[in-house]
Amino acid sequence: MNRLLLAALLMPTLGTLAMAETCPGNPDALGTSRSIEVSTKHDLRIGQKTYPQTLALEKGEVVLTFDDGPLPATTRTVLDALAHECVKATFFLVGRNSKASPDLVKRELREGHTVGHHSFSHPAVTMAGLSDSAARADIERGFQADDMAAYGSAGSEPRVPFFRYPGFADTPDLNSWLNGRGIGIFGADLWASDWVEMTPEKTLDVLMTRLRHQGKGIVLLHDTRHQTAAMVARLLRQLKAEGFRIVHMVPAQGDTTTPLDTAPAGWTSETEAIIRKNWPAILAIKKREEQKPGQPRASSAAGAEKVN
Ligand SMILES: [Zn+2]
Repeated sequence: MNRLLLAALLMPTLGTLAMAETCPGNPDALGTSRSIEVSTKHDLRIGQKTYPQTLALEKGEVVLTFDDGPLPATTRTVLDALAHECVKATFFLVGRNSKASPDLVKRELREGHTVGHHSFSHPAVTMAGLSDSAARADIERGFQADDMAAYGSAGSEPRVPFFRYPGFADTPDLNSWLNGRGIGIFGADLWASDWVEMTPEKTLDVLMTRLRHQGKGIVLLHDTRHQTAAMVARLLRQLKAEGFRIVHMVPAQGDTTTPLDTAPAGWTSETEAIIRKNWPAILAIKKREEQKPGQPRASSAAGAEKVN
């Protein structure tokens, strides 16, 4: 083929690609390297802290997820940092926070992030410590509150079928109930332990050390934590400097199969071990809660061993 003709044919494609990679006002931005369509139709449970499967990521690929928000004092800072670097993340919302700050949920959507769900009240006793009906009611109420905040209406199923358990405390019955509705269950592959009181510098250091070791994965952070909000801009710069690439999870349209990696032999669930260790304390809270009328109490500042 004539070289000029070939160049002319390729130009529009290259032009589109170049434009897609451009981040307005920030030519050196980290950016979002690719999106993965995540299909939740077939009993999706991913994140190797809890489940023996996760997204098939290449070395150096990172999925950023933020739990427990939105909270005006900190979520805005996180969103500003993500916007500056043109990085897309997934937010697992707490319904009562969505209800209190619908504008922030709408901003997350407008800026291209994925909005998933993380229960209504983030029960202090964890889902595993509630009765099955109380847990279902809280999760359902969370779907409704998040979708009302995001879209101004809520149907019988959440528009984005992504759910993460508070404290990763699942039960077989709840898993079947959610998966049976086509809702995917999202754990994490690594975290910054940002529920533990630390400086922003230490939080960043903990996460980068783990990322360098693991090389990739779905990362859990909390946009409700000051120490996290204060370090996200630096985290994104550091990821760029070390050659990490951002992958954005989006709900699959149609019959897409999502490639998954399976954990090596000998894998065990780290979060299950944490929950088992804390079970006596969870039961003690449950007993106190049952003696009081009303809704499950909100989770307060997390203890050193608890995963929020
Ligand atoms: Zn949480």
